[in-house]
Formats: sequence, C-alpha cells, structure tokens
Amino acid sequence: MTSHYNGPSVNYIDGEWVSGGTQLFKTTNPANPDEIIGIFPESTPEHLDRAIAAAKKAFPAWNDLGLVKRSEYLWRFAKLIEEEFGSLAPMVTMESGKQVNEAQADVAETLHMCQYAFAKGFIGEAGTVFADEIAEKLCSEEYRARGIAVCITPWNFPMAIPLWEIGLTLIYGNVVILKPSEETPYCAHRLAQLIERAKFPAGVFQLLHGQGEGIGNMLVNHPDVNVVLFTGSYDVGAELKKQVACFPNKFFTMETGSKSAVIVADDADMDNLAIPASLASAWKTAGQRCVSGSRMIVHRSRIQEFADKFAHFSRRIRVGDPTDPHTFYGPMINRAGVEKGLWFNARAKQEGFTILLDRNNEAPPTPNGHWLYPFVYTGEWRSDSSVLRNEAFSPHVAIIPADSIEDAVRIYNDTPYGLSVAVITEDFRKARYVETHAEAGMIYHDLPCIGAGVRMAFGGVKASGNLIPSAAGILPAITHRVAITRNYARKIAMAQGLDISVQ
Ligand code: NAD
Repeated sequence: MTSHYNGPSVNYIDGEWVSGGTQLFKTTNPANPDEIIGIFPESTPEHLDRAIAAAKKAFPAWNDLGLVKRSEYLWRFAKLIEEEFGSLAPMVTMESGKQVNEAQADVAETLHMCQYAFAKGFIGEAGTVFADEIAEKLCSEEYRARGIAVCITPWNFPMAIPLWEIGLTLIYGNVVILKPSEETPYCAHRLAQLIERAKFPAGVFQLLHGQGEGIGNMLVNHPDVNVVLFTGSYDVGAELKKQVACFPNKFFTMETGSKSAVIVADDADMDNLAIPASLASAWKTAGQRCVSGSRMIVHRSRIQEFADKFAHFSRRIRVGDPTDPHTFYGPMINRAGVEKGLWFNARAKQEGFTILLDRNNEAPPTPNGHWLYPFVYTGEWRSDSSVLRNEAFSPHVAIIPADSIEDAVRIYNDTPYGLSVAVITEDFRKARYVETHAEAGMIYHDLPCIGAGVRMAFGGVKASGNLIPSAAGILPAITHRVAITRNYARKIAMAQGLDISVQ
C-alpha cells in the first residue's frame, strides 16, 4: 500500500503550495506509530495574514459568479474524487486507522456531499418567492453569502466532514479556510490537491495546517472571519463559542459529541435487527464516531437474551489490521484515545457495574499500535454515574435495563448530550414515542444509531451542538436571508391597511 506523503510540508494559500516555517509536525499510522505518514507545517501568523488577504480578494468575484457557475467547480471536484477513489480510501485507512470498508464509506460520503452541493447549485435554489397581501408586490428572500468561513474539523471522518462544511459553503458564495485535524492532515492535503486540479480560483479554498490551540485559535479570533464551522469535542466547542461571542457579527456552529444509544423494545426482532444494529452502533470505528452507540437500553424482559447474544458476537469481533476487509475495527487514533478508553473501563469497575466482557487482556494486534478491545458492562441506570453519562469515544458499552418504552426514553434523555438514538421495535407506536420524545438530532427505527446520509441535516441538541446542523442543514449558518419587496403597480399601497396619503 503506497499511502505515505513524501512531498514538502506545505499549506495551500492563494492558489499556491506554501512552505511552513521552522515548526513542523508529523502524522503516523495508528496501527503502527513507527511508520510516518507525512510531515506538515505548523501555520504561522504570516500564513494566516496571507490566507485572510487572499480570501478577502477572492470573495467578491466568487460571490458574483452565481450559484450555477459555481456548481461547475463542484462538478469537476466530484469527478476527481471519483477518479481518485481507489487511492483516497487506503490513505484514510493509513492515517486515521479506519478499517478499509469504513474508509471507503468515508470517501463515498465525501463524493456524495460534493454531488449534493453541485446539485443544489445547479438547480439554482437561490431563495424563495412569496405573495403579499398587496397583489402587485413581489416579495422574495434571497440567500446571501456571509464571506470568509473557517472550517475546523476532527480526525474521525477526515474527508467527509470537511465536505459537509465546505460543499454548500462554497456553493452559496463564501470562501473557505480549512483547518483540519492535526491527526489527519494528509487527507486534507489530498482534498486540497483535488480542489487545485478542479481549478477553483485562487483564494476561494485554502488549507492551513496545525494545532487547534495554534492556528485554529488564531483563525477563530481573526476579526475578518465571518463564520466558524466547528466539529469536534464539546469542551473545545464550548470554549470557542465563548470566544466567538466577543465578535458582533461572527456566526458560529458546533457539532460535538454524544452518548448515543440503541433502544431495544420488548417486541424487537433480536437476531435480524437488534443485535446487528447494536454491534454496528457500538464497535464501528472502535466506538470513535460522534454517534457511536455506547448505551444499549433494553427492555427488562429481553435483557438476558440481548446481553448473551451481544457479548457472544462482541467476543468474535475481529480487531486488528485495518487494511484487512475481514477486520471489524482498527486502532484508536492515538495513545490519548487508548488512555481515555481504559480510564472509562476502569471507572465502570469502580462504579460497581457487572463486567460482561473485557477483551483487553488479549495480545495487541501490533506491538506499538493504539489498540483497545471491546468492553461491555451492565447495571441499573444511575444518573450520577460518570461512565453512563459521558462520552467515552472508545469501544466501551453499557447494557441497561428499562421497564417500558417511556422508561427507555427517560434513560436515553438523562445525559448532557442529544445526538442520535435508534429504536428496535415492531410496534409503530413505540417507535413514534421515541421519535417524538427522545432529545436527539437523528432518530433511527430498526437501524443502527450510526449511518447518516448527506441529504438531511446532521446535528444534535443539548451538548451535542448549538442547534445549527451540518451537512444539508448548514444553510442558515453560511448564508443570511435578505428580504426584497418590489412594487409593480404605478402607485403605492401599503400592507396592514397603513394609510400614507398626505391630507
Ligand atoms: P477535538 O475537539 O480535539 O478537535 C477537533 C478540531 O478542533 C481539530 O481540528 C483541532 O485541531 C481543533 N481544535 C482543538 N482545540 C482548538 C482550539 N482551542 N481552537 C481552535 N481549534 C481547536 O476533536 P477530535 O478528537 O478531533 O474529534 C473527536 C470529537 O469530535 C468527539 O467528541 C466526537 O464526538 C466529535 N465529533 C462530532 C461530530 C458531529 O458531527 N457531531 C462528528 C465527528 C466528531
């Protein structure tokens, strides 16, 4: 597999590849950290100034181009992603540790988001037309670009999440500066290469590498940045939200973590639906998805059956080489991710839960890789438990009994988060109860609680975000709506019976 980056350490600024200063950072293969994937620059204040100047210069012409013309760039970009599919997915695996099939899905979602953005632009949906109570008035609302948008993205969907944020943002006339995760800069570098090949005008899309506390924070606090689109952990998002609040016109979105769950009702089809949905929700990406299902809330009458079957298959899950199509999940992203997972596992024991499965005494698939095996425990719901309420972001799963669908939803809602929930039931009314009472941004019936598409909004409530979704839901963040009223009568008539005649 040839997925290492051997080129210079560069940012992409004003249509050029710009070398970094003296400070560089490297990324390594999480399955084998001795293997260096690439070396990238810590962006400096000079890089920031150049990128902001280029963005300001590029914005007017890009914005004037119009939706349909802009969509042609996204079309070319999509074609290039399609062309390069075979080389992009292995790179995602090498840099992020995502198992090969998951890496392919990440690139497929990138492509879909690109195609979706193209389609929105090509259809030319620039706003909405309204009638007025005065028939001779034509009223419309038009979407206006906000200006310079900064996208700060996590490592776990290293290609798809940048596109969730970038795709429609570009289509609706903004210019973008991407600050990708310092864990997956090579994936972002490849996106920038394709954007260059798609011949976007200089300054429309730029890439600045580096640490969050460094260039990330400089971007967030730059007075000329109009929008900050952040996806990552809650603590960082909450801090950035405070910082952005100091700027009168800066718009901010945060898509953050969760304590997502699968609810298994008393009538669930266990073998065909509940168990496969739960296994996928729990273990895909080693539990490192924002929507990973770390709680299985199971009707008390079925909990023994569920626990036996879930533990049985979790014992068989193949953890290891992410390039192997038979592997279920690969490594954790880094040592800190392993430490965090181990802390949660130890804490579950301290809190007195019954441990059903802990495979972490198995030999690691590679000596230095960042590995964690499945960990499963059970016990009654406790609102004061830190492991039941906080995001572990690791293969760490609780099986919790519930007495009814209402009780299951009460348990689901009893965390600071609200991103995603699945319900497995044959009963429409139970499913509907979850749909209408769960505090979540994404709700699934007879499916895992993972697996979003690009055509709907992606976002959560409570500490899972700030109620402005990403992907297809991003429009309110990246545009403002201008209301235009035109009169085509030869005299003025006011609505609401307002009399403006001079006596
Ligand atoms: P993270 O918060 O550590 O980093 C995310 C991004 O923020 C990175 O680019 C990082 O460099 C940057 N950053 C960090 N500190 C910063 C600062 N002070 N100023 C500016 N930028 C800063 O998150 P991560 O470890 O990359 O990703 C995991 C987290 O992301 C999990 O909590 C997961 O649930 C969440 N996530 C949420 C979604 C969603 O859509 N809701 C999707 C994926 C991941």
